[in-house]
Amino acid sequence: MGGYGSGRRWDAKSTVEETNRIDIRWLKKQGCLRPGYAGTISWSCNGSTTGTIGARMAGDNFILNYNHRGRDGEWVPAEQTIRLSRSECHFGGHRLWFECPWCHKRVAVLCGAGKYFLCRHCYGLNFASQHESEVDRMLRRARKIRKQLEADMNMMEPIVFKPKWMRWRMFERLRREAEHANSLSWAIAGQRWGQ
Ligand SMILES: [Zn+2]
Repeated sequence: MGGYGSGRRWDAKSTVEETNRIDIRWLKKQGCLRPGYAGTISWSCNGSTTGTIGARMAGDNFILNYNHRGRDGEWVPAEQTIRLSRSECHFGGHRLWFECPWCHKRVAVLCGAGKYFLCRHCYGLNFASQHESEVDRMLRRARKIRKQLEADMNMMEPIVFKPKWMRWRMFERLRREAEHANSLSWAIAGQRWGQ
């Protein structure tokens, strides 16, 4: 991200669930919403950087530059313009909001779960497990169970055969868990827009 100003870091306490979120209150506190601001925003988890994007102010727009991993796994540069809107406060002054680029609702937080930064409603992100890492975790869990059950490793194939040595109750429990993990991973992945 050459050419940008000093790096800005998220609070070191940011959890994995907060990765790739931008919070307008945090941006304001960091001075990223000043006219003419240009810099980078980084996320970190346990001390290591998990993502960096370029950001700049242009009038009432907050512009993000980042690389996004496309369908074929290649990184492609992307730019997204987010409109900022103001609401008057009761006691004077105003508050800034993002205007979600998809539903145009005023929101304080945008999530970059897929190609674009959108509000959590647009991504259907209503619980903490909406992340890439969560999809991977679900698939890993499903794969592990399939291995344990000596089942076909193709996730699209139903699990039908019980290993001889396993009790039926155990088999049923694991089968249900694998199928649940698999369908949940698809549900989460499918809710992402632009992928
Ligand atoms: Zn939205």
